[in-house]
Order: sequence, then C-alpha cells, then structure tokens
Amino acid sequence: MAAPARTLLASRLAGFGTTIFAEMSALAERTGAINLGQGFPDTDGPAEVLEAAVEALRGGRNQYPPGPGIAPLREAIAAHQRRFHGIEVDPDGEVLVTTGATEAIAAALLALCEPGDEVVTFEPYYDSYAACIALAGARRRVVTLRPPRYEIDPEALAAAFSARTRLVLLNTPHNPTGKVFTRAELELIAGHCRERDVLAVCDEVYEHLVYDGREHIPLATLPGMAERTLTISSAGKTFSVTGWKIGWASGPRALVAAVQTAKQFLTFVSGAPFQPAIAHALGLPDAYFESFRADLEAKRDRLCAGLEAAGLEVFRPAGTYFVTADIRPLGEHDGHAFCMALPERAGVVAVPTVVFYDDKDAGRSLIRFAFCKRDDVIDEAAARMARLRG
Ligand code: PMP
Ligand code: GLN
Repeated sequence: MAAPARTLLASRLAGFGTTIFAEMSALAERTGAINLGQGFPDTDGPAEVLEAAVEALRGGRNQYPPGPGIAPLREAIAAHQRRFHGIEVDPDGEVLVTTGATEAIAAALLALCEPGDEVVTFEPYYDSYAACIALAGARRRVVTLRPPRYEIDPEALAAAFSARTRLVLLNTPHNPTGKVFTRAELELIAGHCRERDVLAVCDEVYEHLVYDGREHIPLATLPGMAERTLTISSAGKTFSVTGWKIGWASGPRALVAAVQTAKQFLTFVSGAPFQPAIAHALGLPDAYFESFRADLEAKRDRLCAGLEAAGLEVFRPAGTYFVTADIRPLGEHDGHAFCMALPERAGVVAVPTVVFYDDKDAGRSLIRFAFCKRDDVIDEAAARMARLRG
C-alpha cells in the first residue's frame, strides 16, 4: 500500500494559510466594497519623500546597499530615536535597516530563539508574530487583552512567564486594538524581564500615532531595559509608504548583530532607492509628524462616530489607525461570518479579530476597521454601515 501523501507545507507552518489581510483585500477587490480591512492609507505620503526616491532611482542608487543599511539612513534612525524618545544608539552597529518591520520581527525571532523557547506576547496579536514564533521552533505564551480597555491582567502576565521564557514580544501602540500600553503596564512587563533575565522585542511601528495627549513610551526607556530590548519600527505607517518596506531595528550591539546574522540570509538587503528617501523623511520637521498625528486623530473620531451611529459597540483606540468594535449590539455573534457577509450586506470590508486570538471565545464577536482613509471614504463606509440597522 502506498504511504499516505505527505502534505507540502512543513508542519511548522500548519494552520498558517493566507493572511487575513490578503484575504480581506482580495474580498474587497472582488466585491468592489470599501476596504477598511488591511491597514494601508489611500493617499500618498509627503511629496518631497517621493521625490527623494525618484531622485535616488534616477541617480543610480539601484544596486545592493550595504548589509546594515546605508549610513545616512542609519544616522537618521539614530537621530530620530534621540529626537522623539531620548534614546541613544550608535548608527554604526546598533541600528539595522530591514525589509519592513516584518523582516525585523522574523529575523529577531529566528536569531534569538532556540527550539522550545517560549515567547510571551499579547492577544490579539499581529499575525506574523505567531507564524515567526513557529518558524523559530519556539512556543507562544499568550496574555489576553480584553475590551473595553484591553488592560493587562497582572496575574495572567505573571503566569505566562516560565523558566523557558526567552523573550517578550510587545507591540505598542497595539494593532489591532489601538491600545497604547501605559507606563504602569510597561513597568510590570519590564519587572518580569529584569527578574528573569528575559529579552524584549518591541514593535513600535505606530509610534507616531498616539491620541488625546497620550504618550508613546518605548519599553527601552524603562530602567534596566535598554540593555535587553530590541526596538523595531518602520517607515510604512509614519510616511504612508507601506509598499516600500523600509523598516529597522535598534538596540544593544550584541542583539543587533544577532538579528543581522539572520537578516542577511533572509533578504540580504533591499530597497536601495528608498533608503535615502526615508533618511530624508526621518528628518522632516516636527510639524510633519504632528499634522500626520492630528489628521489621523480626526479620522479616528470620524469613523468611531459613524460606527457608533451604526449601532456597534466601539472601543475607541488611543493609538494606531485601527478601531475595534463588538457586533453583538447588532444581534450578531460571529465576527468572521459577519465580515465575510459584510461586503454583500453593506459594501464594506472589515477584519475579524478572532484570527488574532488563541482563545477564540475572547475574540469571537470583535472586528477591526482601518481609518487611514480619505474622509469621504470614511463617511461613505459609515453611511453604508448605518443601513445594517435596517
Ligand atoms: N507590526 C505591526 C503591528 C503592523 O501593524 C505591521 C503592519 N504594518 C507590521 C508590523 C509590518 O510592518 P512593515 O509593513 O513595515 O513590514
Ligand atoms: N499591518 C497591516 C494591518 O494590520 C497589514 C499588513 C499586511 O498586510 N501584512 O492591516
């Protein structure tokens, strides 16, 4: 008898099908619905940044850049960390340019985890976290954040740590909830890291999108954390160039060196003409960052008001460009089924956040909308959602 056919996909990746973002953007494309699913802006970033890329492209910046990234970009990243967060990193050895934050996250997990190590993270989690933890042969230990405030339960956090914990993978401001971790919560996390000599990898791609006068606090700025934290960010969100895939990691030399070892075998390098453009972007005056933030804060208010009027229970985000909502006030319970039917019912695409939970019951009725869209698009989506009420 023939042996049963082996599935093609390696067991490490079993269960990781198409990402929800790709699935939902394809659904929007197919149905012509307004896409408030995948988080990307529908307008371009600053013209001078686009021009800088064009200039680099025409100016012959089209071959492999240096492995760690071009020096002016590494210098601009270091200057950005100092200007906005008071963090000092040496552009030469403590900064690594990556292919988006996505590659930085993957390279960090592959470089830092042994098979069987545990990674503490928070659910709902960004989808690539689970996949990259699995690729590294590590195991995730998940702490559930629950609406309305998505606060850390200190007991659940303590219970997630064990003798096998290698690192904490934190995202603040947090996708998909829009939560901005408070100093007290970060202190709690830092305390466990210091006590157990655990590393931290902190994904801060929404670092400039924080609302209502709140503050984004990098974990690396807490006492005893700079020496154990790798901080990751990206140009995609801050400059509305999600397709450019310029990201970076910074932190202690030994951590960055380890991550670079993995990174060089994933992509080696990328984005030659975009690197000088992002170096320029990072040096834009404070007014750019403030007006970008204020613009997104107004869009948050616009979409939240629309979704509330449509009858959803809306959990107003403190940061990012996402808002989560509970569909139960509409008499619905299953976010996944709801989102699959939403293009047909209302001509809108949203993301079921249940896919970002291990505890499916915790996320069953929650969905996520992106508000990084033109005002007229937000208004039209809200008007369509209002029709659901009948
Ligand atoms: N982390 C989070 C929390 C995200 O939302 C995203 C999506 N932009 C990424 C990482 C990936 O960033 P990039 O597109 O720079 O790879
Ligand atoms: N970060 C974006 C989001 O959360 C999407 C990125 C992706 O498609 N992988 O919607």
